[in-house]
Amino acid sequence: METMREVLAKGNFILQDELESFESNLCQYLDVDCAFGVGNGTDAILLALRAVGVGGGDEVILPAHTFVATASAVHHAGATPVFADIGDDHMLDPDAVEEVLSPKTKAVIPVQLNGRTCNMDALVEIAERHDLKIIEDSAQALGAEYEGKKAGTFGVAGTFSFYPAKLLGAFGDAGAIVTSDPEVAKRVAWLRDHGRTEDGDVRGWSYNSRLDTLHAAVLDLKLANFDETVRRRREIASRYQDRLGKYEDLHLPPAPTASEHRFDVYQNYEIEFDGRDELKDHLARHGIGTIVQWGGKAIHQFEGLGLGGVSLPITERVMRRSLLLPLHPFLTDDDVEYVCTAVEAFFGDAEI
Ligand SMILES: *Cc1c(COP(=O)(O)O)cnc(C)c1O
Repeated sequence: METMREVLAKGNFILQDELESFESNLCQYLDVDCAFGVGNGTDAILLALRAVGVGGGDEVILPAHTFVATASAVHHAGATPVFADIGDDHMLDPDAVEEVLSPKTKAVIPVQLNGRTCNMDALVEIAERHDLKIIEDSAQALGAEYEGKKAGTFGVAGTFSFYPAKLLGAFGDAGAIVTSDPEVAKRVAWLRDHGRTEDGDVRGWSYNSRLDTLHAAVLDLKLANFDETVRRRREIASRYQDRLGKYEDLHLPPAPTASEHRFDVYQNYEIEFDGRDELKDHLARHGIGTIVQWGGKAIHQFEGLGLGGVSLPITERVMRRSLLLPLHPFLTDDDVEYVCTAVEAFFGDAEI
Protein backbone atom coordinates (compact mmCIF):
# COMPACT_ATOMS: atom_id res chain seq x y z
CA MET A 1 0.00 0.00 0.00
CA GLU A 2 2.88 2.31 0.83
CA THR A 3 4.47 1.71 -2.56
CA MET A 4 1.21 2.31 -4.37
CA ARG A 5 0.56 5.48 -2.39
CA GLU A 6 4.00 6.81 -3.37
CA VAL A 7 3.38 6.20 -7.06
CA LEU A 8 -0.09 7.71 -6.90
CA ALA A 9 1.21 10.79 -5.08
CA LYS A 10 3.83 11.40 -7.79
CA GLY A 11 1.31 11.04 -10.58
CA ASN A 12 3.79 9.63 -13.12
CA PHE A 13 2.11 6.57 -14.53
CA ILE A 14 3.68 5.61 -17.86
CA LEU A 15 7.32 4.80 -18.75
CA GLN A 16 8.81 6.24 -15.56
CA ASP A 17 11.58 5.42 -13.07
CA GLU A 18 9.65 2.62 -11.35
CA LEU A 19 9.45 0.76 -14.65
CA GLU A 20 13.17 1.22 -15.31
CA SER A 21 13.97 -0.01 -11.82
CA PHE A 22 11.86 -3.14 -12.25
CA GLU A 23 13.33 -3.80 -15.69
CA SER A 24 16.87 -3.47 -14.41
CA ASN A 25 16.21 -5.74 -11.41
CA LEU A 26 14.59 -8.30 -13.70
CA CYS A 27 17.70 -8.20 -15.93
CA GLN A 28 19.90 -8.80 -12.94
CA TYR A 29 17.73 -11.63 -11.65
CA LEU A 30 17.78 -13.39 -15.02
CA ASP A 31 21.30 -12.37 -16.09
CA VAL A 32 20.23 -10.78 -19.38
CA ASP A 33 21.06 -7.38 -20.91
CA CYS A 34 17.58 -5.95 -21.54
CA ALA A 35 14.06 -6.29 -20.16
CA PHE A 36 10.93 -4.48 -21.29
CA GLY A 37 7.72 -4.35 -19.30
CA VAL A 38 4.66 -4.78 -21.51
CA GLY A 39 0.90 -4.98 -21.06
CA ASN A 40 0.60 -8.74 -20.54
CA GLY A 41 2.26 -12.07 -21.32
CA THR A 42 0.42 -12.50 -24.62
CA ASP A 43 1.62 -9.16 -25.96
CA ALA A 44 5.10 -10.16 -24.81
CA ILE A 45 5.05 -13.18 -27.16
CA LEU A 46 3.52 -11.21 -30.03
CA LEU A 47 6.01 -8.35 -29.77
CA ALA A 48 8.94 -10.76 -29.39
CA LEU A 49 7.86 -12.61 -32.54
CA ARG A 50 7.59 -9.36 -34.46
CA ALA A 51 10.90 -8.11 -33.05
CA VAL A 52 12.77 -11.15 -34.39
CA GLY A 53 11.13 -10.81 -37.80
CA VAL A 54 8.42 -13.48 -37.71
CA GLY A 55 5.54 -12.55 -39.99
CA GLY A 56 3.31 -13.56 -42.89
CA GLY A 57 4.17 -16.89 -44.56
CA ASP A 58 6.28 -18.11 -41.62
CA GLU A 59 5.58 -21.18 -39.52
CA VAL A 60 6.22 -21.26 -35.79
CA ILE A 61 6.44 -24.56 -33.87
CA LEU A 62 4.93 -24.79 -30.39
CA PRO A 63 3.24 -27.31 -28.10
CA ALA A 64 -0.57 -27.50 -27.86
CA HIS A 65 -0.48 -28.13 -24.10
CA THR A 66 -0.27 -24.42 -23.35
CA PHE A 67 -2.54 -21.45 -22.90
CA VAL A 68 -4.25 -20.39 -26.15
CA ALA A 69 -2.24 -17.15 -25.87
CA THR A 70 0.94 -18.82 -27.14
CA ALA A 71 -0.76 -19.72 -30.42
CA SER A 72 -2.82 -16.54 -30.73
CA ALA A 73 0.38 -14.49 -30.52
CA VAL A 74 1.71 -16.46 -33.51
CA HIS A 75 -1.57 -15.95 -35.34
CA HIS A 76 -1.60 -12.20 -34.69
CA ALA A 77 2.02 -11.93 -35.84
CA GLY A 78 0.65 -13.13 -39.20
CA ALA A 79 2.40 -16.53 -39.00
CA THR A 80 1.01 -20.07 -38.81
CA PRO A 81 1.15 -22.03 -35.53
CA VAL A 82 2.39 -25.61 -36.08
CA PHE A 83 1.94 -27.96 -33.15
CA ALA A 84 4.45 -30.56 -31.96
CA ASP A 85 3.64 -33.17 -29.34
CA ILE A 86 4.93 -33.17 -25.78
CA GLY A 87 6.80 -35.92 -23.96
CA ASP A 88 5.70 -37.85 -20.88
CA ASP A 89 7.10 -35.00 -18.80
CA HIS A 90 4.43 -32.69 -20.38
CA MET A 91 7.15 -30.57 -22.03
CA LEU A 92 7.69 -29.89 -25.76
CA ASP A 93 9.43 -32.97 -27.23
CA PRO A 94 12.53 -32.08 -29.34
CA ASP A 95 12.04 -35.16 -31.58
CA ALA A 96 8.46 -34.09 -32.29
CA VAL A 97 9.73 -30.63 -33.21
CA GLU A 98 12.03 -32.17 -35.84
CA GLU A 99 9.09 -34.10 -37.30
CA VAL A 100 7.09 -30.96 -38.08
CA LEU A 101 9.93 -28.80 -39.40
CA SER A 102 9.39 -27.37 -42.87
CA PRO A 103 11.21 -24.89 -45.12
CA LYS A 104 8.80 -22.27 -43.80
CA THR A 105 9.67 -22.82 -40.13
CA LYS A 106 11.08 -19.60 -38.76
CA ALA A 107 10.86 -20.00 -34.99
CA VAL A 108 10.19 -22.40 -32.13
CA ILE A 109 8.40 -21.46 -28.92
CA PRO A 110 9.35 -23.82 -26.10
CA VAL A 111 6.73 -23.33 -23.39
CA GLN A 112 8.36 -23.56 -19.98
CA LEU A 113 5.25 -25.09 -18.49
CA ASN A 114 4.26 -25.52 -14.85
CA GLY A 115 7.50 -23.96 -13.61
CA ARG A 116 9.74 -26.41 -15.45
CA THR A 117 12.04 -26.04 -18.47
CA CYS A 118 12.05 -28.06 -21.68
CA ASN A 119 15.13 -29.98 -22.77
CA MET A 120 16.89 -26.79 -23.84
CA ASP A 121 20.14 -28.49 -24.97
CA ALA A 122 18.23 -30.45 -27.60
CA LEU A 123 16.01 -27.53 -28.66
CA VAL A 124 18.91 -25.07 -28.94
CA GLU A 125 20.81 -27.64 -31.01
CA ILE A 126 17.85 -28.11 -33.40
CA ALA A 127 17.38 -24.35 -33.68
CA GLU A 128 21.06 -23.82 -34.52
CA ARG A 129 21.08 -26.61 -37.08
CA HIS A 130 18.02 -25.21 -38.89
CA ASP A 131 18.65 -21.51 -38.32
CA LEU A 132 15.48 -21.01 -36.25
CA LYS A 133 14.77 -18.36 -33.65
CA ILE A 134 13.88 -19.55 -30.17
CA ILE A 135 11.39 -17.49 -28.20
CA GLU A 136 10.71 -19.01 -24.81
CA ASP A 137 7.22 -18.60 -23.42
CA SER A 138 8.31 -18.51 -19.79
CA ALA A 139 4.99 -17.16 -18.51
CA GLN A 140 4.94 -20.05 -16.02
CA ALA A 141 8.63 -20.29 -15.22
CA LEU A 142 10.20 -17.18 -13.73
CA GLY A 143 13.17 -18.51 -11.76
CA ALA A 144 13.20 -22.03 -13.24
CA GLU A 145 16.62 -23.21 -14.41
CA TYR A 146 18.10 -25.67 -16.86
CA GLU A 147 21.80 -26.48 -16.32
CA GLY A 148 22.07 -23.43 -14.07
CA LYS A 149 20.65 -21.03 -16.67
CA LYS A 150 17.31 -19.34 -16.16
CA ALA A 151 14.19 -19.95 -18.23
CA GLY A 152 13.67 -17.12 -20.71
CA THR A 153 17.38 -16.67 -21.43
CA PHE A 154 18.11 -19.49 -23.91
CA GLY A 155 16.72 -18.01 -27.09
CA VAL A 156 16.89 -14.68 -28.83
CA ALA A 157 14.03 -13.53 -26.57
CA GLY A 158 12.09 -14.78 -23.57
CA THR A 159 8.65 -13.71 -22.41
CA PHE A 160 6.96 -13.57 -19.02
CA SER A 161 3.46 -13.00 -17.70
CA PHE A 162 2.75 -11.35 -14.37
CA TYR A 163 -0.95 -12.24 -14.41
CA PRO A 164 -2.03 -12.37 -10.73
CA ALA A 165 -1.95 -16.18 -10.50
CA LYS A 166 1.54 -16.45 -12.02
CA LEU A 167 4.67 -16.96 -9.92
CA LEU A 168 5.26 -13.22 -9.78
CA GLY A 169 1.78 -11.75 -9.84
CA ALA A 170 0.77 -8.15 -10.44
CA PHE A 171 -2.54 -6.66 -9.27
CA GLY A 172 -3.85 -7.00 -12.81
CA ASP A 173 -2.39 -7.78 -16.24
CA ALA A 174 1.33 -7.35 -16.88
CA GLY A 175 4.18 -9.00 -18.78
CA ALA A 176 7.79 -8.63 -19.92
CA ILE A 177 10.15 -9.46 -22.76
CA VAL A 178 13.83 -10.12 -22.08
CA THR A 179 16.68 -10.30 -24.58
CA SER A 180 20.43 -9.86 -24.80
CA ASP A 181 20.33 -9.07 -28.52
CA PRO A 182 20.74 -5.30 -29.00
CA GLU A 183 18.87 -5.20 -32.32
CA VAL A 184 15.88 -7.11 -30.91
CA ALA A 185 15.94 -4.83 -27.85
CA LYS A 186 15.76 -1.75 -30.07
CA ARG A 187 12.78 -3.15 -31.93
CA VAL A 188 10.93 -4.19 -28.77
CA ALA A 189 11.42 -0.68 -27.36
CA TRP A 190 9.49 0.87 -30.24
CA LEU A 191 7.09 -2.01 -30.81
CA ARG A 192 5.60 -1.62 -27.31
CA ASP A 193 5.11 2.13 -27.72
CA HIS A 194 3.18 2.77 -30.97
CA GLY A 195 6.30 2.30 -33.06
CA ARG A 196 7.82 5.43 -31.55
CA THR A 197 11.53 5.93 -30.90
CA GLU A 198 13.01 8.31 -28.34
CA ASP A 199 13.57 11.01 -30.95
CA GLY A 200 9.87 11.00 -31.81
CA ASP A 201 10.13 9.10 -35.10
CA VAL A 202 7.53 6.39 -35.84
CA ARG A 203 9.37 3.34 -37.18
CA GLY A 204 6.38 1.27 -38.25
CA TRP A 205 2.85 0.14 -37.41
CA SER A 206 2.69 -1.07 -33.87
CA TYR A 207 0.77 -1.28 -30.61
CA ASN A 208 0.31 0.30 -27.24
CA SER A 209 1.57 -2.29 -24.76
CA ARG A 210 3.40 -0.66 -21.87
CA LEU A 211 3.70 -1.88 -18.30
CA ASP A 212 2.39 0.99 -16.18
CA THR A 213 4.33 2.46 -13.28
CA LEU A 214 1.93 1.31 -10.58
CA HIS A 215 2.32 -2.34 -11.60
CA ALA A 216 6.05 -1.99 -12.13
CA ALA A 217 6.48 -0.67 -8.57
CA VAL A 218 4.43 -3.54 -7.12
CA LEU A 219 6.31 -6.13 -9.17
CA ASP A 220 9.67 -4.64 -8.19
CA LEU A 221 8.73 -4.98 -4.54
CA LYS A 222 7.58 -8.57 -4.98
CA LEU A 223 10.66 -9.49 -7.05
CA ALA A 224 12.84 -8.54 -4.09
CA ASN A 225 11.15 -11.33 -2.08
CA PHE A 226 10.77 -13.75 -4.94
CA ASP A 227 13.35 -16.30 -3.74
CA GLU A 228 11.14 -16.96 -0.71
CA THR A 229 8.14 -17.62 -3.00
CA VAL A 230 10.16 -20.17 -4.95
CA ARG A 231 11.52 -21.81 -1.80
CA ARG A 232 8.01 -22.29 -0.41
CA ARG A 233 6.64 -23.66 -3.69
CA ARG A 234 9.45 -26.22 -3.81
CA GLU A 235 8.86 -27.14 -0.18
CA ILE A 236 5.20 -27.87 -0.88
CA ALA A 237 6.12 -29.95 -3.94
CA SER A 238 8.48 -32.01 -1.76
CA ARG A 239 5.72 -32.62 0.73
CA TYR A 240 3.36 -33.85 -1.99
CA GLN A 241 6.13 -36.13 -3.27
CA ASP A 242 6.78 -37.53 0.23
CA ARG A 243 3.16 -38.37 0.92
CA LEU A 244 1.76 -39.18 -2.51
CA GLY A 245 4.79 -40.71 -4.25
CA LYS A 246 3.67 -44.15 -3.05
CA TYR A 247 0.73 -44.22 -5.49
CA GLU A 248 2.11 -45.65 -8.72
CA ASP A 249 -1.07 -44.84 -10.68
CA LEU A 250 -0.70 -41.21 -9.74
CA HIS A 251 1.86 -39.68 -12.08
CA LEU A 252 3.42 -36.82 -10.08
CA PRO A 253 5.70 -34.07 -11.44
CA PRO A 254 9.40 -34.70 -10.79
CA ALA A 255 10.41 -33.94 -7.20
CA PRO A 256 12.50 -30.80 -6.58
CA THR A 257 15.57 -32.98 -6.04
CA ALA A 258 14.86 -35.37 -8.93
CA SER A 259 17.48 -33.98 -11.31
CA GLU A 260 20.65 -31.97 -10.97
CA HIS A 261 20.03 -30.50 -14.45
CA ARG A 262 16.87 -28.65 -13.57
CA PHE A 263 15.60 -26.29 -10.91
CA ASP A 264 11.79 -26.36 -11.04
CA VAL A 265 9.69 -23.60 -9.48
CA TYR A 266 6.26 -25.30 -9.47
CA GLN A 267 3.99 -22.67 -10.97
CA ASN A 268 1.56 -25.60 -11.00
CA TYR A 269 1.57 -29.11 -9.59
CA GLU A 270 0.16 -31.03 -12.54
CA ILE A 271 -0.50 -34.70 -11.82
CA GLU A 272 -1.81 -37.36 -14.21
CA PHE A 273 -4.28 -40.03 -13.19
CA ASP A 274 -6.79 -42.24 -15.02
CA GLY A 275 -9.51 -41.45 -12.48
CA ARG A 276 -8.90 -37.70 -12.74
CA ASP A 277 -12.57 -36.68 -12.71
CA GLU A 278 -13.44 -38.90 -9.73
CA LEU A 279 -10.44 -37.59 -7.78
CA LYS A 280 -11.40 -33.99 -8.63
CA ASP A 281 -14.97 -34.58 -7.39
CA HIS A 282 -13.74 -36.29 -4.23
CA LEU A 283 -11.40 -33.40 -3.39
CA ALA A 284 -14.15 -30.86 -4.15
CA ARG A 285 -16.47 -32.65 -1.70
CA HIS A 286 -13.80 -32.06 0.94
CA GLY A 287 -13.46 -28.39 0.13
CA ILE A 288 -10.28 -28.66 -1.96
CA GLY A 289 -10.17 -26.69 -5.18
CA THR A 290 -8.29 -28.20 -8.12
CA ILE A 291 -7.99 -27.08 -11.72
CA VAL A 292 -8.07 -28.90 -15.03
CA GLN A 293 -5.61 -26.78 -16.99
CA TRP A 294 -7.02 -24.95 -20.06
CA GLY A 295 -10.45 -26.38 -19.28
CA GLY A 296 -9.22 -29.83 -20.34
CA LYS A 297 -8.49 -28.97 -23.98
CA ALA A 298 -5.22 -28.49 -25.77
CA ILE A 299 -5.20 -25.65 -28.30
CA HIS A 300 -5.84 -27.86 -31.36
CA GLN A 301 -8.97 -29.22 -29.62
CA PHE A 302 -10.84 -25.91 -29.56
CA GLU A 303 -13.20 -26.10 -32.53
CA GLY A 304 -13.54 -22.33 -32.71
CA LEU A 305 -9.90 -22.01 -33.75
CA GLY A 306 -10.38 -24.19 -36.84
CA LEU A 307 -7.21 -26.23 -36.28
CA GLY A 308 -8.83 -29.61 -36.96
CA GLY A 309 -6.90 -32.53 -38.33
CA VAL A 310 -3.96 -32.26 -35.96
CA SER A 311 -3.23 -35.41 -33.93
CA LEU A 312 -1.06 -35.16 -30.81
CA PRO A 313 -1.46 -38.43 -28.87
CA ILE A 314 0.52 -37.60 -25.73
CA THR A 315 -0.96 -34.11 -25.44
CA GLU A 316 -4.45 -35.61 -25.79
CA ARG A 317 -3.73 -38.26 -23.15
CA VAL A 318 -2.51 -35.60 -20.73
CA MET A 319 -5.63 -33.51 -21.37
CA ARG A 320 -7.81 -36.46 -20.38
CA ARG A 321 -5.83 -37.24 -17.25
CA SER A 322 -4.24 -34.15 -15.76
CA LEU A 323 -5.22 -32.18 -12.68
CA LEU A 324 -3.59 -29.32 -10.80
CA LEU A 325 -3.37 -29.87 -7.06
CA PRO A 326 -3.31 -26.70 -4.91
CA LEU A 327 0.16 -25.18 -4.88
CA HIS A 328 0.84 -21.56 -3.95
CA PRO A 329 2.92 -19.85 -1.27
CA PHE A 330 -0.09 -18.99 0.89
CA LEU A 331 -0.92 -22.63 1.63
CA THR A 332 -0.11 -23.49 5.24
CA ASP A 333 1.58 -26.76 6.19
CA ASP A 334 -1.79 -27.87 7.58
CA ASP A 335 -3.46 -27.12 4.24
CA VAL A 336 -0.90 -29.27 2.43
CA GLU A 337 -1.30 -32.13 4.94
CA TYR A 338 -5.07 -31.92 4.53
CA VAL A 339 -4.82 -32.21 0.74
CA CYS A 340 -2.52 -35.23 1.11
CA THR A 341 -4.86 -36.88 3.62
CA ALA A 342 -7.80 -36.28 1.29
CA VAL A 343 -5.94 -37.97 -1.56
CA GLU A 344 -5.04 -40.90 0.73
CA ALA A 345 -8.70 -41.14 1.72
CA PHE A 346 -9.60 -41.37 -1.97
CA PHE A 347 -7.43 -44.51 -2.15
CA GLY A 348 -8.94 -45.84 1.12
CA ASP A 349 -5.76 -45.26 3.12
CA ALA A 350 -6.95 -42.51 5.47
CA GLU A 351 -10.04 -41.12 7.13
CA ILE A 352 -11.11 -37.52 6.85
C1 LIG B 1 -0.48 -16.95 -18.64
C2 LIG B 1 0.15 -17.49 -19.86
C3 LIG B 1 0.28 -16.73 -21.03
C4 LIG B 1 -0.37 -15.40 -21.25
O1 LIG B 1 -0.11 -14.43 -20.31
P1 LIG B 1 -1.17 -13.25 -20.06
O2 LIG B 1 -0.37 -12.32 -19.17
O3 LIG B 1 -2.36 -13.82 -19.41
O4 LIG B 1 -1.46 -12.61 -21.38
C5 LIG B 1 0.97 -17.28 -22.10
N1 LIG B 1 1.50 -18.52 -22.03
C6 LIG B 1 1.37 -19.28 -20.92
C7 LIG B 1 2.00 -20.63 -20.91
C8 LIG B 1 0.69 -18.81 -19.81
O5 LIG B 1 0.55 -19.59 -18.74
